[in-house]
Amino acid sequence: MKKLLVCLLSVLLAAGLLLTGCAPRQASAPEAEQTPAPAGIYTPGTYTAEAAGFGGTVTVTVTVDGEKILDCVAAGDGETQGVGSIAVEELPAKIVEANSAEVDAVSGCTITSKAIIQAAKAALAQARGEEAQSAAVRMTPGTYTATEYGNNDYLEVAVTVDESSILSVEVTKHAETRFLGEEAIRRIAADMVEYQTLNVDSITGATITSNALKAAVTKCIEEAGGDPSALQNPVPPKGGKKADVTVEQADVIVVGSGGAGLSAAVTAAQGGASVIVIEKMPLIGGNTVRCASAYNAADPEMQAELPMTDTLKEAVEKAISETPVSEEHARLMADVKAKYEEYLASGSQALFDCPEWHALQTFNGGDKVGDVLLIRKYAENVLDTLKWMLSLGTEILPKISQGAGALWQRTHQVDAPAGTGLIGPLYDEAVRLNVPIITEMRADELIVENGAVVGVHAVDAYGSEYKFMANKGVVLATGGFSNNKEMRQQYDPMLTPDMVSTNQPGATGDGIVMATAIGAATTGMEYIQVYPLATPGTGALQGRARKMSGLDDVIVVNKEGRRFVNEDARRDEFVAAIKQQTDGIVYDINDSTIVEETNSFGENIETLVKLGRIYKADTLAGLEEQLGMPKGSLEQTVAEYNEMVANKSDPVFGRKLFDKPIEVGPFYATPRAPSIHHTMGGLRINPDAQVLDQSGKPIPGLYAAGEVAGGIHGTNRLGGNATADVLTFGRIAAKTILGK
Ligand code: ADP
Repeated sequence: MKKLLVCLLSVLLAAGLLLTGCAPRQASAPEAEQTPAPAGIYTPGTYTAEAAGFGGTVTVTVTVDGEKILDCVAAGDGETQGVGSIAVEELPAKIVEANSAEVDAVSGCTITSKAIIQAAKAALAQARGEEAQSAAVRMTPGTYTATEYGNNDYLEVAVTVDESSILSVEVTKHAETRFLGEEAIRRIAADMVEYQTLNVDSITGATITSNALKAAVTKCIEEAGGDPSALQNPVPPKGGKKADVTVEQADVIVVGSGGAGLSAAVTAAQGGASVIVIEKMPLIGGNTVRCASAYNAADPEMQAELPMTDTLKEAVEKAISETPVSEEHARLMADVKAKYEEYLASGSQALFDCPEWHALQTFNGGDKVGDVLLIRKYAENVLDTLKWMLSLGTEILPKISQGAGALWQRTHQVDAPAGTGLIGPLYDEAVRLNVPIITEMRADELIVENGAVVGVHAVDAYGSEYKFMANKGVVLATGGFSNNKEMRQQYDPMLTPDMVSTNQPGATGDGIVMATAIGAATTGMEYIQVYPLATPGTGALQGRARKMSGLDDVIVVNKEGRRFVNEDARRDEFVAAIKQQTDGIVYDINDSTIVEETNSFGENIETLVKLGRIYKADTLAGLEEQLGMPKGSLEQTVAEYNEMVANKSDPVFGRKLFDKPIEVGPFYATPRAPSIHHTMGGLRINPDAQVLDQSGKPIPGLYAAGEVAGGIHGTNRLGGNATADVLTFGRIAAKTILGK
C-alpha cells in the first residue's frame, strides 16, 4: 500500500497534479519545476544585466549553476525610497525561490518591478548563452493589435511591448477548438513572453493555429517598430533525459487519450480504480476531439417524429429475408424479424428501429465480415453510453438525422464544436476524479510477465524511459493508423503516401504494433475507409455550411451541376462515385434553412464564404456562375430533387432521405473530395474488449477499445458508428477490468 501511495504521489508529481490542485496537466510529465534541468541549460557563473527603472537604471546580478538560480541581487539607486526600493529588496528573493524571472510585480511599484524582471531575464539569457536581445530590439511602447485566420476563424491578437521587450501576448478573440488550437494559444503566448521570442515551436496537432498566432504577434512587433529577427532566440528545453527508468503504478493504465481512452479511464475511476492515462501527443483528444460528433443509437424517444416510408420498410424486409452467412447472422436476422413484426402489429407510423436492426445494418453495411457478437454488444450498449455521456454534460441537438453513410436515421448530433462535446465532459470528469493524463508520453512496448500484460514501457519527449505498471489491466486505446503511410499502403496498396487524411498526426497504429509483438491477433486490417466529403487539398473534415452531420437536407453534385449518386449511399460507394467525376471534386449544396452562424466544427459560415471555402449566392443561377457550371444545370438538378422530395422517391439513384426541398435562398455550395479516414481493422477483441491471441484466447491483462480494435465495422464503417463504438468499448474494457 505504501509503495502504491509513493508511486501515485510520484505520478501526481510527474503530471503536475500536486501543483495544480489535482487537475490533469496537458503537459509533458517532466517540466522545468518538477524534473532536473539537463546539464547545460545554464553555464554556471554570475551574470549581470540592466533595464530602465523608474528613476534610472536597475541592475540585476544572478548567479547560477547548470540548472538553478542560486542567487540574485538587484540595485537601483535612482528608485524611489519606500516605493521602488521595496521591489529592489523583495523581488530578487522571489526570483531565486521561483527559479525563474517569471514572478509577479510588487504591487505599487510596477515599473521598477518590471525593470528588475526584465534585467533578470536578460541576465538569465546570457547564462543560457543567448545574445542579449535588448540591444537589438527597439520598440515604441504600447499595445498593438493584429488579426490572422486560424483553424476555425480569425484570431484577434493584442501584444503589449515596452522599448525592448514583449510584456504580454493576448488573444482577445478566437474560435479555436478547446484542447487543440485553444491550448496551442495558451502555451505559445506564455512562451513568447517568458522567453522573449517569436521563435516558439508550433504545437503538433494544432499547427494552423500556432502559425496564425505567431504571424499575428510578428505583425504586432513590426507595427511597434521592432525587428522580428532580433526576437528569435530558441525556447530552451524544459526538461531533460533522466538517467534512470521511472516506475509508476496504478490499477489501470490507459494508452491514448481519445474517446476510447478517456471513456475507459473515467469508467474505471468512477468504479474506484486508480488510473493513469498516457498520451503520446502534446494535445489530448486524438481523432475524437477532431470528429464531427455524429453518434448512432436506436433511440425510440428521439426517433418518434420520423416517418416510416415504404422504401424504408423494403430495406428492413430485404435484410431479414436474405440467406444468412452464419448462424450468428441467422439469429440476428430472426431477432430483427421478431421486433419488426411486433412493430408492424403495433400499428406505429414512426420509424422502425432497435439495437438489433442497428446491429444488422452495421454487419450488412460492412459486407458481412464483422463479428456479429461484437456488433451486437456494441449496438445493445450505445444508447446507454450516450445517456452516460449526457449525464457527464454532453449536449445534443434535438433532431435525429442520417449521417453521411449512416444508412438509417439514428444519428444524434452533439451540439459543440468538433468533438469537444465528447472529449470535454470526459476530460472534466477525469479532472474531478484526479486521473492524471500525461501527454508527450509514448508507449512503445507492453511489459509481459508469466504470459500476462502487467504494464507498458514508454518514452517521454526527452527520451526518458518509464514503466507504467498496471495492477489490474492495460487498455490500448491508441486509435487507428490512417496516418501511418507505410502501414496503410501495406494493407491497401491503393492508398498511396500522397493521399490526404482527416486524421491527427498521432494516428499511426502503435497499439497494433505493440500488441502483435506479443502475439495478439488482428482482423480486417485491409479495410480502410476513405471519407467522401472532406476538404479538397487538406483532407480536413471541417468546412461545411451546416451544423448537422446528416445529408438529410443536402444534395451532392458534380462540376457539371448534376447529382451522380444516392446521397444516403455507403461511404465506399460514395467515394467510388466521386472518383468518376470531373477532377474528383464535388459540391454539397444546401439552402439557407439549415444554415446557422457556425457549423459543427465551430467555424463561422460567413467567414468561410469570405475566404472562398464555401460559395454562396442568392439564386441557384448565381451559384452556377460562381462555380462555372453549365447554365441552368444546378437549377434543373434542384428542381428534379424537389420533385423527388414531394414524391418521396428517387427514380434515378434510389435515395431514401427526403426531409425538405432545397428552395430558400441564399444557396450554399461546399467543395468536397475524399480523404483517408478510418481503419476498420485492428486488434481482435472479444465482446468484453479483451485482446485475443492467435488461437482466440484472451491475453491476460490486455484490453483494447476504439479504432485500435477491429471486427465491428467490417469492410465499411457506417457514418456515426465510430464515436458510438469508441466510447462504448472504452466503457466495456473498464467494466471488464473492474469485474462489473
Ligand atoms: P479512439 O477514437 O479509438 O479513441 P483517437 O484517435 O481518438 O482514437 O485517440 C487515440 C489516441 O491515442 C490519440 O490521442 C493518439 O495520439 C494516442 N496514441 C497513439 N499511439 C500512442 C502511443 N504509442 N502512446 C500513447 N498514446 C498514443
